[in-house]
Amino acid sequence: MSHIVVIGAGQAGASLVAQLRKNGFAGSITLVGAEPVPPYQRPPLSKAYLLGEMSAERLFLRPENFYGEQEIDLWLGQPATDIDTRARTVTVGGKIIAWDRLVLTTGAVPRHLPAAIGGDLEGVFAVRTLADIDAMAPHVAQGARVLIVGGGYIGLEAAAVCARRGVRVTLVENAHRILQRVAAPETSDYFRALHRDHGVDIREGVALDRLTGEGGRVSGAVLGDGSTLAVDFVIVGIGIAPSVALAATAGLKIENGIAVDALGRCSAPDIWAAGDCASFPWRGGRLRLESVPNAIDMAECVAGNLLDAGVDYVPKPWFWSDQYDVKLQIAGLHAGHDRVVTRQGEGRTASFWYYGGDRLLAVDAMNDPRAYMIGKRLIEAGRSADPALVGDPGADLKALLQP
Ligand code: ADP
Repeated sequence: MSHIVVIGAGQAGASLVAQLRKNGFAGSITLVGAEPVPPYQRPPLSKAYLLGEMSAERLFLRPENFYGEQEIDLWLGQPATDIDTRARTVTVGGKIIAWDRLVLTTGAVPRHLPAAIGGDLEGVFAVRTLADIDAMAPHVAQGARVLIVGGGYIGLEAAAVCARRGVRVTLVENAHRILQRVAAPETSDYFRALHRDHGVDIREGVALDRLTGEGGRVSGAVLGDGSTLAVDFVIVGIGIAPSVALAATAGLKIENGIAVDALGRCSAPDIWAAGDCASFPWRGGRLRLESVPNAIDMAECVAGNLLDAGVDYVPKPWFWSDQYDVKLQIAGLHAGHDRVVTRQGEGRTASFWYYGGDRLLAVDAMNDPRAYMIGKRLIEAGRSADPALVGDPGADLKALLQP
């Protein structure tokens, strides 16, 4: 009977082991997680959970008895430290586990501010794990002052939750606009206005020079333009890096993440990878996606391939973000766009459609599930959308779906 060992008990690892059993795999399964808790959903952590509207139990992806019932051996609280690709073993907490097939679903880790500029002061928090949020939660209180470093979706979602809690929020983004890595200026403008309406002080094109502290605790910040702020705590959302250290020391090929082929196989035999940590072939290059839908879809595809399904992973990228009463849904990937068409609805309802030449590449839809759904269907079918129709708020988008 064969033994599949999965390293990393996040969304991808949890989806993968469940899918193996669903596919009828009857061998042994071991799921190894560095965190002391069973696999949980991350998106609600910094939102419903931080606001106290959701319990820790409801974050868990599966009830605790699931793993026992499915005969999945869960090893929690210890990271895997060493892979021996020849002996086919992995070391976890001093114990050596033998595997027939190994899967790396090690995810990603938040980038930290360097200690030299105060990144290691107390009161400086990342947004990634349950422990991060539990540590931050007591500070998120009426009247407190927070500096959020980074204007990506992580920073902006944290800003929304803090503002809703009555925290006084300053957000600093060193690029010339928030969301510059992931969205068009139209989307940046939309979210800048939304946050300003909620009292968030957004400073763009300004670097954080350093955090300052008293007795080891953060108490202030100096920005690149010389301005200073008094703060009670700091939230850092400056991106994540794929967790590749274990794979790299095992000699696996790394290329913007753990490099896998279209089936999900790493550069050494019988080792596979999926989720945030993995980069896969895409349009002549490589792509790595940081999203829950990618973690689930890729893990399920790889689970099939571990049992010899032989199916290439083809991502259908979509993302979402919740800020205040705005639900942003994103379909497709906007890389390579050369223009954006705006479809303005009532109030805050809007969508931005990204084109590369005549080709529709992506849609950012705010409180407009219909625009999102239609855009997603078109993109997945490799079809475009008449920009004149898209840009006319009176036109029925359903007409775009007609052949
Ligand atoms: P995340 O998933 O954490 O939101 P992104 O990479 O999408 O990651 O966004 C991070 C944002 O943080 C980017 O817009 C980037 O320009 C910004 N950023 C990175 N380093 C700094 C810094 N030292 N000070 C301010 N902003 C930063």
